[in-house]
Amino acid sequence: MNALLLAGGRVIDPANDMDVLADVLIVNGKIAALGKEAGTTAPAGVERLAVNGLVVCPGLIDLHVHLREPGQTAKESIASGTAAAAQGGFTSVVCMPNTSPPIDNAGTVALIHEVAESQGKVNVFVAGAITKNIAGEEMAPIGSLKREGVVAITDDGHCVQNHELMRRALEYANMFDLPVMDHCQDYSLVTDGVMHEGYWSTALGLRGWPSAGEELIVARNILLAETTGARIHCQHLSAAGSVRLLRGAKKRGVPISGEACPHHFTLTDAAVAGSEKFWPADGAGIFGFDSHSDLPRWAAYDTNLKMNPPLRSAADREAILAGLADGTIDILCSDHAPHCDYEKEVEFDYAPFGITGLETELALSLMQLYHSKRLDLAKLIAKYTIAPARLLGLGKGTLNVGADADITIIDPDREWVFESTASASKSRNSPFYGWRLKGKGVATIVGGKKVWTEEAEAAAVPALL
Ligand SMILES: [Zn+2]
Repeated sequence: MNALLLAGGRVIDPANDMDVLADVLIVNGKIAALGKEAGTTAPAGVERLAVNGLVVCPGLIDLHVHLREPGQTAKESIASGTAAAAQGGFTSVVCMPNTSPPIDNAGTVALIHEVAESQGKVNVFVAGAITKNIAGEEMAPIGSLKREGVVAITDDGHCVQNHELMRRALEYANMFDLPVMDHCQDYSLVTDGVMHEGYWSTALGLRGWPSAGEELIVARNILLAETTGARIHCQHLSAAGSVRLLRGAKKRGVPISGEACPHHFTLTDAAVAGSEKFWPADGAGIFGFDSHSDLPRWAAYDTNLKMNPPLRSAADREAILAGLADGTIDILCSDHAPHCDYEKEVEFDYAPFGITGLETELALSLMQLYHSKRLDLAKLIAKYTIAPARLLGLGKGTLNVGADADITIIDPDREWVFESTASASKSRNSPFYGWRLKGKGVATIVGGKKVWTEEAEAAAVPALL
């Protein structure tokens, strides 16, 4: 028998409206008991982990991650990406299909499941493509993708521009009870924009990516969700208008949902002009960074501030935070998008879009939502657990007795510095190296096994003296 007792933690399970001091007993990979009886029914010789003063919650789920395997393993692999997930406090990830070749057929899904089984540190769920080769021209074989176990379909990185094709894909997906996730970008309006269209794009001489380029597709998705009755999930929302559209649609009962990523509700487009411009302009909007000493520094045109959709204005940042606070935006995720140094070390125009995020998203979410008093811990944890689990039907996201023992242990008040040398990702394209953050996962448990703990990591690093 394999048993572990988590003793004395604050157990938060939003799906069951639970926020209590309790013990949790894990036996053979499942939650065996919770509360007073957990300690008394524990088998003799059970391994005991004291978690006093820490939060014990269902394992966090990130439904928007690029693991880059197959085909781009110089950037990341299933092994390294899931190691970064474990270190960030995540027990499950959903990998995006824009790999090489793309995940637009059952064979590639089977391959990823196989590699994840042998090399993955955490659970890997697979999203299939909407269209063949993610080219936006012909539907992918949605039925066979579903049979092979994909949990959603998306052309992420791209966006199906043909509304008729999108409508047919939605009708198919609905027949197979698969949610459709969409990267919302109107190509004719965005063209080759590289940053938010506004004051800073003009000042920096960079081509603009207007908010309306996202809002148009959010509006299209609302109309198609109403027309077809299919569920659509809008990925990485960045613009105030998108939040407004989503809020109105949800009030009418349209089957639509949305997600937000920490970079969009932490940074703004002013960051592209360098730290000297950013801190006085928009720095006050970041929790804990209102002092004027020891602030992180970076240069203008830093390509680790280039992502798609782009960092937007301070008003957009505020609207995303308000949408998260009032429940308009259901889900938090990273859009973890690793790229090699040589790809990012070019002019801003030529660099690929995207940053890594698995190791910083929990801290930034805690800072911008919990510490800044916009959301309580249970509501924040719900956006990383039961909300994505329900959307995708993962059978995860709770601490019900009998459930898989996927658990994250969090110290919400821990202050730490994110060092590039400590990252488990293969890539180094985060804008947050050297940042002092508040809140951290301290242990990650998948199926009852500790796949990452702070103590184990500290022990693995040889002492300096
Ligand atoms: Zn995307």
